[in-house]
Amino acid sequence: MNGGAPFLTAENKGLVEPHGSAALAESSERSARQNLEICREIDAWPQWRQAAHDIKRYTLANLDKLLDRFTTKLEAKGITVLWANDAAEANGHILELVRRHGVKTVVKAKSMVSEEMELNHALAGVGVDAVETDLGEYIVQLAGQRPTHIVTPALHLSAAEIGQLFHEKLGEPFTAKQEELTAIARKHLRRKFIEADMGISGVNFGIADTGCFALVENEGNIGLSTAAPKVHVALMGMEKLIPSADYLPLFLNMLPRMGTGQKLTSYVHLFNGPTEGRHMYVVIIDNGRSKALARPEFRRVLHCIRCGLCLNHCPVYRHVGGWAYGWVYPGPIGMILTPHLLGLEKAGKIPFASSLCGACSQICPVKIDIAHQIVRMRKEAVQTPGSPARSLVDRLTWKAFAIAMQTGFRFRLLMALIKIAIRIAPYLPWHPDKLGQWTRGRALPEIPKDGSFRDWWKTRQKSGRSKPVEREPPATVEKTTVEEA
Ligand code: SF4
Repeated sequence: MNGGAPFLTAENKGLVEPHGSAALAESSERSARQNLEICREIDAWPQWRQAAHDIKRYTLANLDKLLDRFTTKLEAKGITVLWANDAAEANGHILELVRRHGVKTVVKAKSMVSEEMELNHALAGVGVDAVETDLGEYIVQLAGQRPTHIVTPALHLSAAEIGQLFHEKLGEPFTAKQEELTAIARKHLRRKFIEADMGISGVNFGIADTGCFALVENEGNIGLSTAAPKVHVALMGMEKLIPSADYLPLFLNMLPRMGTGQKLTSYVHLFNGPTEGRHMYVVIIDNGRSKALARPEFRRVLHCIRCGLCLNHCPVYRHVGGWAYGWVYPGPIGMILTPHLLGLEKAGKIPFASSLCGACSQICPVKIDIAHQIVRMRKEAVQTPGSPARSLVDRLTWKAFAIAMQTGFRFRLLMALIKIAIRIAPYLPWHPDKLGQWTRGRALPEIPKDGSFRDWWKTRQKSGRSKPVEREPPATVEKTTVEEA
């Protein structure tokens, strides 16, 4: 996976099939509706968003000082702090801890940073068995798949498919009842918690003024992963700070509303240091974040609290699913975060996976100007040598498009050629169904029987039904853009 972000390549087959994309679209749309309903209940929601935005902006402007304060307090509580510039260094720290503590088995609570690091792969390389304990992550790990959503990793699988998976991999009788599926997972995971030598978690919020960190969850697996083993390692992206515990309630109220449509999560854990005989480590990871921090026009991407709401609202994500983005972060946040973490040479095509409808910017609880950043990132992608957005095919396609759009005659000629191509395409040996992922499961548009829009318009004009209406130009032109954060 670290080899790049091959947007819509053959390895992503599955979710672009009509069945998969329909199920995904339905569930993400349902989640989006629930999230909106729950926000509408709060009159002060716009003020909450602005406050969250301001807190994150302040945090990033003072990140060096706040990180210093945070880590000094952590160390005073007996928590060992380790710094990592990139995924390789972070994996190196974990493997060293594995050696130091003689770890054979690991239980993992959900952590997007660990996905960035491909930590399970690194642990498997030294013979350590790492088990995901978040239910969705557990399911996709058993299935040998990647998460399709940053909050609900198994969103693409039906209860029946999960029942079949548990039957095949765990030897359990088939069931499609959700409570029974949860009970099966609980039964198998409980033993893992008890036997594990190390628990690995993420960090939702590091609190600079108190030197503690917070994790939120619903399943109880984070509590068990961090409390049962003797060693707890928390992986934290360097931007996951808030300045003061006073601000925590705001984020604890916002994150579940946006992430899962709940008012609060079932559990909120605050970690204040190891108890006697135990060890606690916090690994603070850069992995490309400081590149975004150094650029004011992109810095707001680091406001992200990983609620996943922009995915649910994105019409492209709803159709292609999470795998299509080829790396850890799908959807709108992936389009602006992945290029910083992987580089445009690997991720240059991802910013083009957007209709630029702006729904993500409108909904983001921390007011990230996602759509604007996507446009800026596209500009960079086509200017960056080695970026896939500068491939010969892309450049020739856009060159041809620009030439065709320069005169009315060329445009009409292009349209005529497209019509011919659509008519003969089904009879060609290289039917468009075989052309690639975009054409899988998608029918070519039918050519209207009464010609193109231009033909239709001409006919109307001839019949006198579409006389141009003379109007005074408006005194001012209202500027309509996506909401500027
Ligand atoms: S960009 Fe905004 S909406 Fe998307 S995951 Fe991050 S915080 Fe949530």
